[in-house]
Amino acid sequence: MKKLKKSISTLIDYVTSLIHSSLHSEQQRCRILEFHSISDDFSGRMPILSPSAFHEFMKYIYNSKYTVISLNHLVECLEQIKPLPKNSLVITFDDGYKDNFLTAFPILEKYNFPATIFLVTGWIGKNPTYLSWKEIKQMHSSGILFGSHTDTHPYLTKLPPEKLEHELKKSKEIIENKLGTECWAFSYPYGKVNESIREKVKKIGYKCAVSKGEKSNTLRTPLFELSRTFIYETDITPHHFRVRLSGAHQWRRLWSQTL
Ligand SMILES: [Zn+2]
Repeated sequence: MKKLKKSISTLIDYVTSLIHSSLHSEQQRCRILEFHSISDDFSGRMPILSPSAFHEFMKYIYNSKYTVISLNHLVECLEQIKPLPKNSLVITFDDGYKDNFLTAFPILEKYNFPATIFLVTGWIGKNPTYLSWKEIKQMHSSGILFGSHTDTHPYLTKLPPEKLEHELKKSKEIIENKLGTECWAFSYPYGKVNESIREKVKKIGYKCAVSKGEKSNTLRTPLFELSRTFIYETDITPHHFRVRLSGAHQWRRLWSQTL
């Protein structure tokens, strides 16, 4: 029975990704990929993707129909209602892990892919797990964008208004002071957000914010509700990459629940 269920799921993945590709459903859409730590150490921190899987994924994107654009480019298209490049993708990382510099950065450079890293400013340089300002500045000078992921990574929906404002402002100011450039992008910790938080993020001066949701973004997607597709260790083969980039995994999940 288990084997049959697995075979049906694989068949569903294959058929739905084919349907999506043939309908060119991604052409006027932009999928934002969400990574965290890129490491082989699965002992504690989650979520993680191994360096080999990350490299394979970047190679797959490079050799396929996708175009990796910067978050800046996506925001420009949304603000000015300009057409999105066909089959576009944006690469993002949350939390500011040191392996983003040691492992992911050289791979991104190899393929000349732009990326954005959302920093928790209170964690920078705190221990060997996290990026140092020296590493951040080196990546910044090579074109990596840096956004805010708050100062202490709290659940924003649980904060009183003054603490919420402090988290949004402090992280923005620190990044701007250290990098000498505007910090205009925000990532909601745990993807937890509501309308008043979105309004606050906007009011404080950010231009956009990313969350979760697994959807592709279109020109109609609100700038403070950008959806991201979470990439984790099970997405290790080109087959899985294709399934997640096509959005077919959402159909698969639906079917799995009914099987
Ligand atoms: Zn986070």
